Amino acid sequence: MAQLNLQHIDKIYDNNVQAVFDFNLDVKDGELIVLVGPSGCGKSTTLRMVAGLEDISRGKLLLDGKDITQTPPKDRDMAMVFQNYALYGHMTIYENMAFSLTMRKEDPNVIHKKVLAAAEILGLTSQLNKKPSQLSGGQRQRVAMGRSIVRNPKVFLFDEPLSNLDAKLRGATRREILLLHKRLGATMLYVTHDQTEALTLADRIVCMSMGHVQQVGTPLELYDTPNNIFVASFIGLPPMNLFDVTFREGKLQGKGFEVELTDAEKATLSGYNGKEIKLGVRPEDIVEGGSLKVKVFSNENLGMNTLVHGHMGDNNRISAKLRGWTKYKNGDVIQVSFQKKHFFDKDTTNAIRKGEK
Ligand code: ADP
Repeated sequence: MAQLNLQHIDKIYDNNVQAVFDFNLDVKDGELIVLVGPSGCGKSTTLRMVAGLEDISRGKLLLDGKDITQTPPKDRDMAMVFQNYALYGHMTIYENMAFSLTMRKEDPNVIHKKVLAAAEILGLTSQLNKKPSQLSGGQRQRVAMGRSIVRNPKVFLFDEPLSNLDAKLRGATRREILLLHKRLGATMLYVTHDQTEALTLADRIVCMSMGHVQQVGTPLELYDTPNNIFVASFIGLPPMNLFDVTFREGKLQGKGFEVELTDAEKATLSGYNGKEIKLGVRPEDIVEGGSLKVKVFSNENLGMNTLVHGHMGDNNRISAKLRGWTKYKNGDVIQVSFQKKHFFDKDTTNAIRKGEK
């Protein structure tokens, strides 16, 4: 069992920089939570406060109901996997994995069993006598995870564990972490700036910007119903297109283009008659056929689909992920329509949803 509760947590560094504002989160037993956001948004600070490597300036941290806000890191029963692996170069893989247990003076027979079991889970059995320098980046990352597994901690903490790996290895290691999570059923907190990692790994995502939590939810919730323009633009690749439009006469009027709305969409926007809003459309929600004209300036074939960049109306930049292998040339005009639309209040940047004012 390992439930974590972060309650009204603030972090103010000694130089008076406030890195985290009123962070609240209840992590369920066995849940994999991914903290995601751009560099400097406060993800690592939050993770380090959970680990006990940074003081919590205000607020409370509970582990299984027990207040551990002031508990030293070594007594928190958590294990952290770092971006740079932090392996000891002069020790073998076996010794690296056994290190924390040796320090705790556990019975060597027990240590042996635990190291072999972790090596088995991670496919490192044949590497145990090697030194870290003889291993690939991906294998070293697995050793770093192995070192955590042998300790059987209540909570695993990951700080950008894949950022030193190349793209292919990142994908493979990501899948290993998922399998590991399933196999161990452990509570995990995982920090990354990469929205793809967040979408593929998380049970729930916490999306942050400038020290503030913007939205907490499942990957699908953040993708489908982003709370605000920040989450809408950060989650999803390529990012959502955003247009300045006015809701008038049951339509959205933009600069040099007009978008028809369904009755349900009109109802959602009923409080915005005559007002300017932001219209968001994901590139993958744009399809060929329709009344919107796009003047193409680039055509990138990705295999299954093609990313087409162009301008709509009076110079509104637009990116569309079209099905199949299109071969549009610079200057071609194509006609498209929007399958799903997102609406945002221009002043608050919050999503405009049905039944909300
Ligand atoms: P992220 O992990 O999202 O990249 P961090 O948590 O590392 O962000 O940093 C959040 C903010 O706190 C940044 O503005 C950063 O400059 C600041 N910060 C991080 N560590 C310290 C520190 N030790 N002292 C002062 N400010 C810090």
